[in-house]
Order: sequence, then structure tokens, then C-alpha cells
Amino acid sequence: MYYRCIVDVANSNVDKLFDYSSDQDIEIGTRVLLPFGNRTIQGFVLDKKDSTDVDKTKIKSIIRTCDPYPIILPDLMKLMHFMVEYYHLRYIDVIKLIVPNVIRSDKVKSQISVECTLNDDNIVQEYLKHVRKNATNVFRTISYLQQNGKENIVNLNKMFSSSTIKKLIGDQIIITTSSIKNRLVHQPAQENKIQLNDTQKQIVDTICNSASKTYLLHGVTGSGKTEVYMNIIKQKLADGKGAIMLVPEISLTPQVVKNFTAKFGQNIAVLHSGLSLGEKYDEWKRIFNGEARVVIGARSAIFAPVHNLGCIIIDEEHDSSYFSESNPRYHTHKVAEYRAKTCDCPLILGSATPSVESYHNAMTGQYALLEMPVRINNLPMPTIEIVDMCKAFRNGNTSIFSQEFLGELQNTIEHNEQCIVFINRRGFASFLMCRQCGYIPKCTECDVSLVYHKRDNELKCHYCGKRFHNINVCPVCGSHEIKLGGVGTERVVQELKEHFPNVPIYRMDNDTTRTKNAHGKILEEFGSHHPSILVGTQMIAKGHDFPDVTLVGILDADLSLFFNDFRATEKTYQLVTQVSGRAGRSKKSGKVILQTFFPKNYVYRFVANYDYKGFFQKEDNLRMVTNFPPYSNMIRILITSEDDDKAKLVSHNFFMKLKELRQNRPKDFYFLEGMKSPITKIQNKHRYQIVLRVVDNFEIIDKIYNIEKEVRDSKVSVFIELNAQNLS
Ligand code: ADP
Ligand code: ZN
Ligand code: ZN
Repeated sequence: MYYRCIVDVANSNVDKLFDYSSDQDIEIGTRVLLPFGNRTIQGFVLDKKDSTDVDKTKIKSIIRTCDPYPIILPDLMKLMHFMVEYYHLRYIDVIKLIVPNVIRSDKVKSQISVECTLNDDNIVQEYLKHVRKNATNVFRTISYLQQNGKENIVNLNKMFSSSTIKKLIGDQIIITTSSIKNRLVHQPAQENKIQLNDTQKQIVDTICNSASKTYLLHGVTGSGKTEVYMNIIKQKLADGKGAIMLVPEISLTPQVVKNFTAKFGQNIAVLHSGLSLGEKYDEWKRIFNGEARVVIGARSAIFAPVHNLGCIIIDEEHDSSYFSESNPRYHTHKVAEYRAKTCDCPLILGSATPSVESYHNAMTGQYALLEMPVRINNLPMPTIEIVDMCKAFRNGNTSIFSQEFLGELQNTIEHNEQCIVFINRRGFASFLMCRQCGYIPKCTECDVSLVYHKRDNELKCHYCGKRFHNINVCPVCGSHEIKLGGVGTERVVQELKEHFPNVPIYRMDNDTTRTKNAHGKILEEFGSHHPSILVGTQMIAKGHDFPDVTLVGILDADLSLFFNDFRATEKTYQLVTQVSGRAGRSKKSGKVILQTFFPKNYVYRFVANYDYKGFFQKEDNLRMVTNFPPYSNMIRILITSEDDDKAKLVSHNFFMKLKELRQNRPKDFYFLEGMKSPITKIQNKHRYQIVLRVVDNFEIIDKIYNIEKEVRDSKVSVFIELNAQNLS
């Protein structure tokens, strides 16, 4: 038999199928050891056949299989071929998603736990008769085990002589049993028994009893979507199937995991970037072995090796983390849709603020729309008060807080309740500026201004992480008048402390959540203090359920509105609605103070009225007349290199060929432009980009990928991003 194999080497030149022979019958998807050049390397069997075109004398044989079973499941095999074709990815890059490094490298092993017990009492007594009276180690060890029944071998070795224990095991007086010990412990939790309401029941029934398709579950914040997800999964488990639920990385809080453990016990596995290698290894193996059938994870968990998949859920489906923006680039919805189809299982996209594209798909019948328009127990949505900061400024208020916000906050504190304050910038000031000459300190590696961090008294680049000394004197003109511009989380905390010195205030942003579990600890602290205030970036917008939060302050809603991005309005709508949704989630009603310099902007009107449909119609219409997605596919081609001239040349060549393509197919193109990226340099790499909007069909996209092959240069990286999210 001949086997077509991919070698585990990340090099485009060898990313093709090589023919090998073997007398063994090897299944597709199996990991194998292969002779390659004069090396032995790992590879994967992707295909098998009876004959080969390669010269038989040159064909080498597979050395051996690495595992006694295929490590790539059949449905993931199909998914791999799809991604390689659709996104023009290398096989090996997709295999790395499906079989993560920690599994391929064989460096991490399962942790084995060995329990020691004594053999039958008769045998032990008989044995003791023949032991010398001064062999105290033997007597003490046996006596310990007689009293305690069993003990882990590691502990036993610490307490007694290990050579004695070894001998007792050899003489079969101590009996050992080994088992795999999971490094990640899912603490058992008490299930909160909840009776589904009629809407929830209906939705669960619809999804579980209809033919598989993609559903868009549009449910307002606090409508009980999580309970719906868990009940669908429960039914799938009862049918002998497994499930994958994806959430944005930062919503993978202990709270969510606890809810799932309470319902599904040790049947869950968690996959996210915060796990240690050992933990990741164990979780993956538990899924692969079928011990854990419910996977909760961030984006890449869509590749989890769940057998007999019964449903895929993408929670907060509008979240931008579902786009992979580094190699291999892919869109989770697309990948999930393909996998769900292969497994003939439903895909459920859930959100309080669906992306315009997904809602459009629901309107045009590609997705089935399911709605949960009211909160659990008919709780009212929090009222949103829009505060005009221009007016406040004209009336002499130059502070970052409006009178309305401070008044409400005072009230909240007096009632021993909690408040969440949102500002979408970390650090203290987002830039410094010399008042005399206008100098702004910038990163030396990137074309961006530096952010002032007060606690560290440093300037930091938020793109590459490089740190610089703070400046008190302008290096250009020598002036001492350095102004702090743009308020960040650190400054908000400081100013709140001045107003409310006795209230605990917590900060949650990228700076305070670097360490493992920091995120969960901050939320726990905040949740257990009354009154208390939590200040944070968009991290605080996601899925948290604190019953005593009655006030949400949105300090600068406009920040995301003026991003140079056609999705800016949509993102603002989503962010403000999600943050507002943290208020009033139990019996106490909630209030939101939304500060803006543009109170008349239509997005805020729709937000304040909770009018998603109205917002969608306006936005969708705008996209239609301007040919933006979902009415086209927006593609960004990002060209970067340390060598500016080479990057320029590649972008020029690429652009000219695209122009030629447009001439031949004018109807397929809506827009084509080449330019420097808005950020012209990151980490010393010069950046150019070509942005185009084309009809959304595979053929034209394929042609664009093929141009890349013609203009390639080894010193230049070219990334083609379909459905581009980020244009900076
Ligand atoms: P969403 O994800 O839609 O924002 P959640 O699923 O977090 O909403 O639900 C909000 C709160 O309502 C949670 O505390 C949840 O336990 C509770 N809940 C959900 N369904 C019910 C129900 N049928 N009866 C009572 N409480 C419920
Ligand atoms: Zn100056
Ligand atoms: Zn930088």
C-alpha cells in the first residue's frame, strides 16, 4: 500500500503530499515517523492508494506509526481540506490547529498517580512472621497502610524508606494501582436547578427536534441564553453526542466554568490560552478519549477532537475574537459552519447584539432566527440616560465625570450597591503632548503615540510593548508644559478615589490581568464587596452576571465611533449595549449613564431604545447602497517587511495585477485601493495594504490568492484577509 503524507515541517516548499510505502494497514489521519532526506521526522497520513507514479526504487517506507489510532478524526480531516482550499493555507498550519503542539511534540506526558494498598490481610500476616524484628521500616510502613487503607506512592516515599517500599511492592505486599491524574481540576459545584420558561423551552425544542441548520439566537442581555445552551447540550449528551461551546477568551471566567461543571460534572473540558502545557495536554486527551464530551473554549476550540459532535454553539457571536488575525487566518463562523454540516449537527450563534452580517443572513433565510426579546422574569432593561458632555463643558464642567453620573454613583453607594465604569483605554493618558511645539512622543519601532502609565511612571507602546522613560521636559523645544491627553482606566480610578475615598475600586484591563487567574480574582473581589466600583476596558462588557450592579457609567462612548472602519457604528452599538447589559440583572432595576460629545448620533438613539432591528435596518441599508459587507467581501492584503523598498515593490506589483484583473472582470469589483497602512510601522516592519471589495464568490477570491504566488518575495510577508476586521 502507498500512503500520501504531509511532513511536520513548517516550510512552504515541503507542504505537499509525499508518497511512502508500508506493509502495514494504516488509517488515514494517523501520525507516523518518516525518513525525510537524511532525517527522521513526524508526518501525517492524508491519503492511501494502491499504486504510485513515483519511481518505485525511490519510494521510502514509513518507519512506524506513532499512535495505534488516527489522531485526526474523519470530520476534522474534511475540515482541513476545506480550509487549505478556501483560505489557501498550508496543510501543516491547519494540522497544527487540529493537533496542537503539545500533542505533536510528545514532550508532555500524562501525570500518573499511583495508589498503594496492602494485599490480603492473611498474606500480610504470614509475611510479617518472616520479617526480622529490627526491620522497623517494614513494620512502620505496613502499620501506616493498615490504619489509613491507602496512600499515594509519592507521599508514602516521603514518609518512609523508598527502598523498603520498593521491596514491599516487589514482594506483592503492597499492591499498586495507577491512574491518570488531571492537572486541571474542575471543582464539583452545586447545580442551581432552574425551570426553563416557555420561550427557553420552545427554543430548546426547536433546535433539538428540527433538521440541522444554523440558528441565530437573538436574546437581549439577561434573557437566559446560557440556560438554553446548557439544555441543548444536555439533550445531545442524552443522545450519546458531544458538544462544543465557544466563548470570547475573556468571558471564560471561573463563573462560566462553574455553571457548566455544576450541570455536567467531569464531562467538561476547557480549552483556552491561559492553560499550562500540561493542562492543555490533559484536556485534549480527555476530549479525544471521550471522557469529556462537552468542550468550552475560545476560538481554537472549534478544532477540539469531539467524537460524534451533536452541536456547536458560538456565544457572543458578534465578538471580533472569532476572527483569527494571525497565521493561519480564518473566520470561526465559516469553519464552524463547515464542521457542523459535516457532522450533520446544528450551529447556534447567540448574541444580544448580532453582527450585521449574521442578522442579514437571518433576514435572507440563510440562518433561522430565534428571539428572546425579554429578560428573565420580565425584568425591565436598564434605562439609558444620554448625557451631553459638550453642554456640560459649556457649563464649566471640565472633569471626566458628568454631574449626572456622580449623582447616581453617590446614590448607588448609599444603597450599598455596585457600579461598573467603562472606558475603552488602559493606562493613565493615551498620549502626551508638548503645549509649546506640539511634540508627541512616539514608539521608535512603531508609528504610534506612547501611552503614559502612572504607576510605573513609564511610557508604553501598546502595539509592541516597548517601554520608555517618562518625559517632563520636551526633547524638541525644552518646554516643561507637557499636557496629558486622552483619559485611561488608571486615571479614572485615581479620580474616583478622590471622590469616594472609602469605596473599594477595582481595575480590570490588560495591565491588571496579566497573571494567571487575575481576571477571576478581580471579579470575585468586586462581587463580594458592597458597595464597590469596577473600572475597566471592554473586558468588563462580556457576559458577567452580578446581581447587585445597578449603575453602569460609560465615560467616553465616542471612542470607537470614529475609528476609520466601516464597522465603527456597529461596534459602538454592540459595545454600549453589552456594557449596559451588566446593570439591573436581578430584582433591583438598573440605570446607565452614557456620556457623549455627540448625543445626536443615531447610534445612541437606537441604543437607548433597545431598538436593534431599527439599528440593523439603517445600517444594512447603508451597507447595501455603498456595497460594503454583507453586500460584498472586504479583503485586506497586508504587506509587511523590514525592507521598505521590497515591501513597496511587492505591493506595487500586487496592485497592478489586481488592476488588470479588475479590467477583465469589472462587475466583480466595487473598490480597489493601495496605500500605506494607517499605522505605517509596527515592530520595525513597514506596512502597506491593498483594500478591495469584491463580490463574495470563491472564484474571484481564488484568483486573488493566485496573484500572491506570482508577486512573492522571501523578505516580504503578505497576508490576505478575507472579510477583514481590522484595517489598522
Ligand atoms: P444572557 O446570557 O442571556 O445574558 P444568562 O443566561 O446569564 O443571560 O441569564 C441571566 C440570569 O437569569 C442568570 O442568573 C440565570 O441563572 C438566570 N436564569 C436563566 N433562566 C432562568 C429561568 N428560566 N428562571 C430563573 N432564572 C433564570
Ligand atoms: Zn516642545
Ligand atoms: Zn512599538
